[in-house]
Formats: sequence, structure tokens, C-alpha cells
Amino acid sequence: MSHVDIVYFQNGTTMNIIVGSHVWVEDPALAWIDGEVLDIRGEDAEIQTSAGKMVVATCRKLHAKDMDVPEDGVDDMTKLSYFHEPGVLHNLATRFALNKVYTYTGNILIAINPFQSLEELYNTGVMEKYKGMLLGDMSPHVFAIADTSYRAMIDERKNISILVSGESGAGKTETTKMIMRYLAFLGGHTFVERRRTVEQQILESNPVLEAFGNAKTVRNNNSSRFGKFVEIQFDNRGRISGAAIRTYLLERSRVCQISDPERNYHSFYHLCAAPQEEIEKYKLGNPESFHYLNQSDCYHLDGVNDAEEYLAIRRAMNVVGISQDEQDSIFRVVAAILHLGNINFSKGEETDSAVVMDEKSKFHLEMTAQLLKCDIHELEDALCKRLMVTPEEIIQRSLDPLGAAISRDGLAKTIYSRLFDWLVDKINIAIGQDPDSKYHIGVLDIYGFESFQSNSFEQFCINYTNEKLQQHFNQHVFKMEQEEYKNEDIEWNYVDFVDNQDILDLIEKKPGGIIALLDEACMFPRSTSETFSEKLYQSFKFHKHFVRPKLTRTDFTIIHYAGEVQYQSDQFLDKNKDYVVPEHQDLLSTSRCSFIASLFPPLSEDLAKSAKFSSLGSRFKLQLQQLMDTLNSTEPHYIRCVKPNSKLRPFVFENMSVMQQLRSGGVLEAIRIKCAGYPTHKTFAEFIKRFGILAPDVLKQEYDDRDACIMMLEKLALQGFKIGKTQVFLRAGQMVELDSLRLRAL
Ligand code: ADP
Ligand code: MG
Repeated sequence: MSHVDIVYFQNGTTMNIIVGSHVWVEDPALAWIDGEVLDIRGEDAEIQTSAGKMVVATCRKLHAKDMDVPEDGVDDMTKLSYFHEPGVLHNLATRFALNKVYTYTGNILIAINPFQSLEELYNTGVMEKYKGMLLGDMSPHVFAIADTSYRAMIDERKNISILVSGESGAGKTETTKMIMRYLAFLGGHTFVERRRTVEQQILESNPVLEAFGNAKTVRNNNSSRFGKFVEIQFDNRGRISGAAIRTYLLERSRVCQISDPERNYHSFYHLCAAPQEEIEKYKLGNPESFHYLNQSDCYHLDGVNDAEEYLAIRRAMNVVGISQDEQDSIFRVVAAILHLGNINFSKGEETDSAVVMDEKSKFHLEMTAQLLKCDIHELEDALCKRLMVTPEEIIQRSLDPLGAAISRDGLAKTIYSRLFDWLVDKINIAIGQDPDSKYHIGVLDIYGFESFQSNSFEQFCINYTNEKLQQHFNQHVFKMEQEEYKNEDIEWNYVDFVDNQDILDLIEKKPGGIIALLDEACMFPRSTSETFSEKLYQSFKFHKHFVRPKLTRTDFTIIHYAGEVQYQSDQFLDKNKDYVVPEHQDLLSTSRCSFIASLFPPLSEDLAKSAKFSSLGSRFKLQLQQLMDTLNSTEPHYIRCVKPNSKLRPFVFENMSVMQQLRSGGVLEAIRIKCAGYPTHKTFAEFIKRFGILAPDVLKQEYDDRDACIMMLEKLALQGFKIGKTQVFLRAGQMVELDSLRLRAL
């Protein structure tokens, strides 16, 4: 065997590749495949992959494969001697195949969606086992994170937040529910009280919110279309004493627009499957007969019985504290929205005017008015006409049929989102906040980074959220690293890492950021998506995270930390305007149904003016800032959910997609930050066991472990490493270097 040693520098990593090295080589389909170097020619290595294929690759792009990883992987990535992308990916795949869906990276929990019910992983027996354990004594688990959080809260009197993230369908909501169940188990009330317990109410709030805020999408049959932060409060004996739920940005467009094979919000289908009595009362029929539902061919979900769900939701509403009357009103509003969607318009006699199209539409108009308890003519006017206020007079102007349809959909979206907000408020009031609560654990279940074929304002807000959380995450990981070095008495020079403040400035800076420019455009009556985009192009011509795509006049691209996203700006202005058309407001605030009127409280003069300029973007930014303030005042714990495949099937692990998620979830970034310091730690004993062979004469003498390690490292002429109180800290790549020496010595 020829010993041609080539030492390359890669991202500050020294890498020894010799003939016989086991390596990872990049592959366009599988991300990384392993193989053995058979020959080295210049800068290239000839590799035989484990599947028997021959490939040639530049040595610079190879990663060394650790041959000493246990067959079932390691439960904490930081135990990997070689801490790099392929090593991390391989470890996850190995464990996933064995149904080990949880793995730590330091104190970040990575959770891979098993897409199968693993009862034995979550039953009460398992909860008992995790109670009071030490992190690391038991296999990684979401219960372990919840338990540690609870202990830290009790023992160290800290407020905690658990941040659950991941792409749609990765398992965030299920994970969140598991955390809540475990906290209810720890902090629940042992004696049976007559009244409903707070923890029951917290748990039952989930199905209620899911019925109204979740829907089937291509990515997830039960996709949450809103973000959620649940703060669970505890009294000084560690028992749950209250809760506060905050929600973020419900997807409004879904109420009136869906595409095959997705569904609208579950609540509509539940109601269409309600007992006959209600169907007659609300004059409902098949979901197929409603425009808001029949734009897609998907009506039923496998394993879900909408009729049973309807009854279950009613029961959950009872537990949560929503009265029978309120429940009736809620479903009456849902029915009204379905009828509203079936009102069609045709051209009226006057030019550019609209009238309700035919008898069928008239029936639905009548039903809508009846259910909303408002005057049918006023409803018709609110849909088809607008009042123009000029200094001289008030003129009534007609909308054309298209304008009337837009007005109808606007009304439907407004009513539904107000209904959702009402539910959240109601649940909050019913559960109640504990004013004397000493501590809380907050659980965040929020949409992950999104990049689709077509991206609009919603994706913009979602990705903005993720930039914010990413910054928080980076800062946290960085701080944790620093603390570990401090504990070991190691001096660590602050290594700079790329922060995403630039991107955040681009979005949220005031004045001049995208949100501010959007608000400006919304306030200026003659703005169009063209003028708005033009303004962006001018303002950010030289911004390194902003790109003007070719062949478009209104698209813009942001280079996010997780990748590029091209946004279509054509609906940004409309979607950003967060005000209810005054005609709609007037109609509903005077409804004879007090429930509906309460959804539309009359606006004071001042408010009416300022409401015109209220923008969703700015409101969202404010909400996000409040969330960040809360998070910053707590000790964070991170759970990164990963979707193993897009088929939603068990045991299928798609390397490329997992890789991409680890990247955008910041797991690889965390690894990068670690690599910038001393990524490999070995206790003195471990180090001697592995590398003693390289310095047999040192071992012959009677040094203590620490001194022996120092002698060995000096003898091997390694530089830059650190010796802590209990561990050796090696720089990136040094482990590989030592291993290749060891392999030659064997
Ligand atoms: P997200 O909230 O991230 O979009 P969900 O939590 O709704 O994703 O999960 C999507 C689906 O995946 C769930 O409906 C469930 O079928 C499955 N799933 C998620 N997590 C688990 C788990 N831990 N065990 C079993 N199935 C799961
Ligand atoms: Mg969800």
C-alpha cells in the first residue's frame, strides 16, 4: 500500500486522506455514500463505494468516516468522534431504522416523525420512567425534555420555553401535545375534583383549536394553519394553575380558496356531518354542494369520521367551558359562511353593477341573512355596493360581479378569523390565568421555513418568523458552548459566526425595511404591486440578501439563512391591509345575534380612522417582538422535528430531504458553531484508551490521566487543543488526524 498523505484544509478542518481511508463522498441522489479510497491521483481520489460502485472525487470534498461508531448509532451527536454532515445524517438514519426516533445534539432534541403509532413509546409507564431522571441516563425522548424543563423550573425557579420547530408534517403539533400531556402528568391534580381541572381544559383546548384551525394539506392531513404559544402556569407547589394561549396568523385564504387534494378547515366538514336535526336547522347538505368546499375533490380523510368528530368537538367545548348557546352560535356562523360562499353574482342593469345571480343564489343569500341574523337587503348591499364619502356628499357606488365576489370572500374570511380569535379568547378566559403563578413553561408550535413553487405574503411572514427564531437559536447555542468551556475552565476565543441580522434588517428595519415599505405602499391610494416592487428593487439594489429575479416585474427573492425564496408580490398589498370593510363592519355589528355582534364591536371614531391603516405585517412584527421578549426572559429548550419522507410512510428515510431540514432547522448551523470551537471532547480515560497505542512509553510511567493526556498530545505535536478539568478538547479535524496515526500504528 502506498502511503501518499495529502493534507487538505476544509472550512478550517484538516483532513488526512490516504489510500485505504474510509470516507463519505457526496452523491446527488443520496446526499452522502460511504466507500474506501483505492487510489489517489493528484487532487482526486478513486473510491469504491460500499455498494460496489467506483467513483472519483476531489479529496477536498471528502469526509472521513468514523469506523468506531456503534452499530445502533449514538444517542447524542456530540459523542460522534467525527462531527460532520454525513456522520450526523448516517447516525439519524441508523437509529430511525431501529425505531429510535429521538436523538440529541447536545441539548437539542431531534425528533423524526415515525409515521406510525408507537404506543409503547408514550404510555403512562414510560412517563413514570422519565419522571425525575437525569438527562442522559435514559434514552432521548420528548418526555426527557419536558421533565428536565419542569425540574429546572422547580429547582432553579426559572421560566422555561420549549421551542418546537420543523416543516409541515414533521410532527410539531403531536410533539407539543406530548409535552402538554407529560406536564399535566407531572403537575396535575391527584384528587378527583368535581370541577374540571385546569390541565384537562388545557388538553381539551387542542381538539377545539384544531377543528377550527387545522386542515388537510398536501404535506399533512392535519396541518395547523396557525402558530401557537401555550404558556402553562404553575403554583409554588409545582401544580398547574393556569394557562395562556397565544396564536399567530391563521391562514385566512383557505376559508374561500382551496385546491385539490387539500381540504378547508375541519370544522366545515364536521358540521356537514352533524346530526340530522342540525342539518335541517342550518339547511346544510353534502359538502359537495358548497363552493368553499367543492373546489377540491377531497372531502373525506382516511381514519376520520366527521360525524363522530362533530360530537367530540362539542364535548371538548363543554370541557373547555363554551356554553351550549355559544356552541350553537359558533356552528351557526360556520353554516352561514358555507351559504355565503354559494351566493353568485351576475351583471346588473346599470353598467358595472352586480346583482345576486339566480334563485339558488337568492336562497343562499336568504339563509346567510337568517343565520347571521341581519337584514337581507342590507346584506345584499354590503356585498354589492360601496359608500364613497366625498366632502360634499355620500355616494353609493356599485361593484361589478367580480368585485362583489371578492367582497363576499372578504366577508367570509373576516367572519371566520374573528370566530377563531373569539375561540382563543374564550378558551383563555375559561382556563384562566393564575395571577399568583410563580413560573411557567411555554411551548411554541410554529410553522417552519417554507419555500414553494409560488410564495406569497403568508410565506413571507412565516419565513420572517423563522429568521427571528434562528437568530435566537444561534445565540443560544453559542452561549451554551461558551458555558461548557467555562465549566471546564477553558479559555475560548470568541469565534465569529455568521449572524442573520442583515436579513432581519432587510425585512423589519424601520424605516426602510420591506414591511415598512409595504405599509407605505398600502397607505398610498395609487400603489400597485408594480410600484411596490419597483420601490423594493431601488431600495435594495445592493443588498446582499435581496435579488431581483429576471423576467418578472413584481417578484422578489430573499436569500434566507435556509435558502432562497422567490416571492410573488401581487397580493402583498391586499393581504397586508388589515381592516374590515366599513359596510361589513356596520352590517355585523348590528346583527340581532349578540354573539355575532360581539365579534364586530363598533369602532370608535379614532379607531375607525386608524383601523384603515392597520397592517397585518406590522401587527405580526409586533406580536413576534413580544414573543421574542418572552423567549429571551426564559431558558430555552429546542426540539427539531424532522419529516423523514414526503410520502408520510413509516421506515422511509430520504437523505436529501432530511439533510435540507437539518440545514434549515439550524442543526447544521449548531454543528458549525461547535466546529468553530472544540467540537470533539473526550474524557481523559477515553482518550487514553483510544490513543494510548500512539505513546506506549507515556503509559508505562505513572502519570495521572490528565498529565498522561498532556504528555501524549505534546508528543504527537498537536496544536491548538485544550485540556479542561475532566476532558480533552480537540479542534475540528484533529480526531481524524489522530485516528489515521492510530490506524497506521495498528
Ligand atoms: P406538524 O404539526 O409538524 O405539521 P403533526 O404534528 O401534525 O405535524 O404530525 C403530522 C402527522 O404525523 C400526525 O397527524 C401523525 O399522524 C404523525 N405523527 C407525528 N408525530 C408522531 C409521533 N410522535 N408518533 C406517531 N405519529 C406521529
Ligand atoms: Mg401542526
